[in-house]
Amino acid sequence: MTKYSNNFLAHALRLGSVGREDAPFLFFGDEFQSYADFFENAEKLASVLVEHGIQPGDRVAVQVPKARAMLELYFATVLAGAVFLPLNPAYTGHEVSYFLNDATPTIFICDPKKLDDLQKIADLARVASVLTLAADESGSLTRKRDASQAGFIAITRRADDLAAILYTSGTTGRSKGAMLTHGALASNSEALLECWDFTPSDVLIHALPIFHTHGLFVATNISLMSGSACIFMNGFDADAIIDAMPKATVLMGVPTFYVRLLEQKLLAHATNGMRLFVSGSAPLLRETHERWSKITGHAILERYGMTETNMNATNPYVGERRPGTVGFALPGVELKICNPVTGELLENGEVGVLEVRGPNLFQGYWNMPEKTAEELRANGFFITGDLGMIDDDGYLHIVGRGKDLIISGGLNIYPKEVETLIDDLDGVIESAVVGVPHSDFGEAVVAVVVSKTLRSTDVMDALAGNIARYKQPKKVLIVEALPRNTMGKVQKAELRSRYKDILL
Ligand code: AMP
Repeated sequence: MTKYSNNFLAHALRLGSVGREDAPFLFFGDEFQSYADFFENAEKLASVLVEHGIQPGDRVAVQVPKARAMLELYFATVLAGAVFLPLNPAYTGHEVSYFLNDATPTIFICDPKKLDDLQKIADLARVASVLTLAADESGSLTRKRDASQAGFIAITRRADDLAAILYTSGTTGRSKGAMLTHGALASNSEALLECWDFTPSDVLIHALPIFHTHGLFVATNISLMSGSACIFMNGFDADAIIDAMPKATVLMGVPTFYVRLLEQKLLAHATNGMRLFVSGSAPLLRETHERWSKITGHAILERYGMTETNMNATNPYVGERRPGTVGFALPGVELKICNPVTGELLENGEVGVLEVRGPNLFQGYWNMPEKTAEELRANGFFITGDLGMIDDDGYLHIVGRGKDLIISGGLNIYPKEVETLIDDLDGVIESAVVGVPHSDFGEAVVAVVVSKTLRSTDVMDALAGNIARYKQPKKVLIVEALPRNTMGKVQKAELRSRYKDILL
């Protein structure tokens, strides 16, 4: 029992620290915040929300830089029975306006630096109250919190009530709000906690953003649920992570974290006492996995998930963590690979569309019943849009996004196949293969390659004998870096639009 027993998610997240309320939850600089202090602040904030008119089911929209009080606010929103709606701080006023009008929150919390602009936008969207929170924890939200009393009585919420709406990154059209329930978040956290063997003695380096499923739900919920601690960092800083490692046990990161940490001289020494390195949100190159193992002796554990589903698959904690794969389905989650046209189940080894079903899934897209019906089947399977393959040992390989599939002269080309060959060439740092309009073939392959030593003809020549002609790039562009979003995902839509005329 906890004092939040009537609130499904708050109860599940509170259980880990029962009887250990004085234990640290968040370390920051030389200080720490105990569990008791975290829950007390969350209760105070829940009162602030209610004073501002929040009713169960209302949305609390937040666009702030990473700050500890944002986690308190997340928990407060859950306690108040409301729906947490975090937004990427990089979104412009124009984008924020779309989210506020679509989600119609009752409260919007923003960075005090942007208050002048965003207040007007919130007024136009008829948001009742606007509060502020800055990266240094100042602002009207924390002022009101500190003037408020703890002891908020949690609002009753069941497993199928909404806890959060997370908007997808929307690289191909309008961003969609994935509706996530108390039950989906709690069950996913439970499954991960078990798979990754989290205990109260863990200390997680938390350097991920908290507007996204990875940093908000995977990292934060697991820590709360297991009663373990986090070293809270406001962003990625390789030196700070290296310094923190001797006091930590786990790092969760996107692949770029690992690529950048590999440049650190003290890496091998710093990682000695760590027990687990998790990677996700974008594909981890086999080469990064192998270099990390060689230097640190640790095999990075790669997992796979998405905003709509939470986490679906993970490499094993005990057993082979196979580079280039995302492992096996989480307990309670079903995965299948289907023919993209007929929906029929495919054999192991065949590439098709990945579908998932389980208690981790979202309930649908906010205000978009047609989109929900297109992607969520009546039998409960969600069509992820990712292309995957299950190998003979049962490991899941993510082969790319369905929409990135290139169809050239009627033939299918999986960009990943061409990228893997290019990445294997000496001197290639990374690559992205996209389809662009071609007058004869409809679409054709263009490879965008990051290399300091190779010319485009070197890449063309190396591929010539290795893959069928229709899969060979019609053009290879050597660039300094690939465009990525904050979660480290290569922005293929951006590359397609940048090079759309290059073969015409
Ligand atoms: P998001 O909703 O922003 O978390 O993005 C989810 C998408 O990221 C998935 O549909 C995949 O395309 C991709 N993704 C996440 N984890 C991995 C991974 N380990 N390997 C390859 N792609 C991944």
